[in-house]
Amino acid sequence: MISVKEDFYKNILDNLYDGVYLVDLDRRITYWNKSAESLTGYRSSDIVGRYCWDNILMHVDLEGDSLCQGPCPLLRSMKEERMLEQEVYLRHKNGHRTPVLVRASPLRDARGQVIGAVEIFSDNTPRITLAQQVKELQKLALLDPLTGLGNRRYAELTMHAKLEERRRYDSRFGVLFLDIDFFKKINDTYGHETGDRVLQMVAKTLQNGIRSSDTVGRWGGEEFIAFIAHADDWALSSLANKLRRLVEKSNFYAEQQLINVTVSIGATVSKMGDTVEELVRRADQLMYKAKLSGRNRLVID
Ligand code: GH3
Ligand code: MG
Ligand code: MG
Repeated sequence: MISVKEDFYKNILDNLYDGVYLVDLDRRITYWNKSAESLTGYRSSDIVGRYCWDNILMHVDLEGDSLCQGPCPLLRSMKEERMLEQEVYLRHKNGHRTPVLVRASPLRDARGQVIGAVEIFSDNTPRITLAQQVKELQKLALLDPLTGLGNRRYAELTMHAKLEERRRYDSRFGVLFLDIDFFKKINDTYGHETGDRVLQMVAKTLQNGIRSSDTVGRWGGEEFIAFIAHADDWALSSLANKLRRLVEKSNFYAEQQLINVTVSIGATVSKMGDTVEELVRRADQLMYKAKLSGRNRLVID
């Protein structure tokens, strides 16, 4: 059993900016530091004694594939007896996905036998740009208060600016129109407050899934719009599918019920001569096609 008993070491680990946790050979968590608490929302008392594959953190890779049952970095570091580094999305207690850079190293006893592993993870969100963007948005009252994203007005202004750039410099951008599937059912079954939490969770996952040069806004109700810089069809569809899968894998508990939703996405690349209205109409119609073809789908044209 690995533990951090000595106050001296515990103090150092608790004061690190990075999240740190230790696991034994069965990947049972034996230590969880203070930064791990703030990065994930889970207290040490929620986590210590649980297994890291136990549907808590549910690491997924940048493509949205689950790592717990397969190529788990902790497991690999113990097997291969080396340090591994990987960018992953972990699941925050509130349900949204948070990007972190993970470093996993094997831990050895005095005789050199591997007895567990340590995972150090650091926040990978483009924090400064995001903070600056939010400040500007607040100033101009273009912020949606529920989700913290830009509102429809902000999205329209962004689109105007991007279309102007498109006209002048021929720089293409992609538009994604995303609509939550069967959202009314969430409100009807679990209440409006849970519905609001779902909107916050989806907003955060989308914001965390794009780059700082891209923008996502709340178009209204359960509809979101995103603008993806310098995108061709291939890049746009792979990003859209990544966002679709990150939303699919975001969830939280409300009254012991696991709440999760999916989104249908319409995607299109801007064309010379497009207007704001034309672009939104095209992306919205493609989203509608995605609904008709079964939901939790992407339709791109
Ligand atoms: P579909 O898969 O076809 O998109 O079905 P849907 O149920 O998502 O679509 P519909 O447009 O029928 O329902 C959207 C619902 O979103 C209805 C409305 O009450 C709810 N809604 C809109 N804004 C908010 C909000 O700010 N908070 C909450 N909780 N619900 C909202
Ligand atoms: Mg809708
Ligand atoms: Mg909907």
